[in-house]
Amino acid sequence: MPTEEPEQALIDQAHLSTLATLVAGVAHELNTPLGAIRSNHDVIERALLKLQDILEDEVVTPDELQDVRKIVRAMDGVLRTNGIAVDRMRQIVESLGTFGRPDRAEVDRVDLREGLNGTLAVLNAELKKHSVVKDYQDIPDIECFPNRLNQVFMNLVHNAAQAMEPGGTLTVRTRTDADAVVIEVEDTGKGISPDHLAEIFKPGFTTKGQRMGMGLGLAISKQIIDHHGGSISANSTVGAGTTFRLSLPLTLPANTRDEGGSDASA
Ligand code: ADP
Repeated sequence: MPTEEPEQALIDQAHLSTLATLVAGVAHELNTPLGAIRSNHDVIERALLKLQDILEDEVVTPDELQDVRKIVRAMDGVLRTNGIAVDRMRQIVESLGTFGRPDRAEVDRVDLREGLNGTLAVLNAELKKHSVVKDYQDIPDIECFPNRLNQVFMNLVHNAAQAMEPGGTLTVRTRTDADAVVIEVEDTGKGISPDHLAEIFKPGFTTKGQRMGMGLGLAISKQIIDHHGGSISANSTVGAGTTFRLSLPLTLPANTRDEGGSDASA
C-alpha cells in the first residue's frame, strides 16, 4: 500500500497544474505590453536609420528638416507608449510578488478579504473593462492554506471576467454563516446551461477550446475547498450570469491540519 494519502497526491498534482495555468496567464498578460515594446523598437530602429541618412548629407534640405521634425514627433508618442507598457509589466510583476508564493502551502489564520483583494489586483488588467463591486461583510480570520485559497479565487475571478462582455459587473461578497465564512463571486456573464453545470467541476471539462482552456481550474478549486472541509457550488442563469459560492469552516479538519505545510515539491 502506498504511504502517501491518495487525496494529497491528487492535490499536489492539481496544485502544479494550477501553477502552470497561473504561469500561462501571467505570460499572456505580459505579452501585450511586450509586443508593444517590440514593435516600437522596430519603429525606433527605422527612425534612427532615417536620421543617420539625413545627417550624412552636407546640407540638410527643408524637406529633410521637415522629416526630422516628423520623426521627433513620432518618437515622442513611441516613448510614451513604451513608458505605459513598461509600467504595466512592472505592475504585473509587483502584483505577483504580493500575491504570495503559490508553491508554498502553509497553514495560517487569515482574513480572506486580503486574498480576494490580492486576486483582484493580479487580474486588474482583465477586469478593467468591467465594474468590480466589493460587498464585504465583516468575517473572522479562518485557519487555512491561504495561497491555495488564492488560487481558487484566481480561478473563479478569471472565469467570471472571461464569461462577461465588456461592461459586465463582477461582485465579490463575504459574510459569515453559522460556523463558516461564505465567499461569493458573481458575474453578469453568459451563464452556464444546466447540462454543463453538472460537468464543470470535472477535470478536463472546458467550453473554451483546447487552446484557451484546460478545464482544470474548477476541478482543482473543488479539491482545494474539499481539503479545507468546505464546499463549493454554482448557480447560473443562461444569459444573466453565474454565482460561485464557497463555504469554509473557521478551522481546518484535524487530518488536513496535521499534514501541515506539506509542500508540492516535497
Ligand atoms: P477552463 O477555464 O480551463 O475551461 P474551468 O475548470 O475553470 O476550466 O472551467 C470549466 C468550464 O466551466 C469553462 O470552460 C466554462 O464553460 C465554465 N465556467 C466556469 N466559470 C464560468 C462562469 N463564471 N461563467 C460561465 N461559464 C463558466
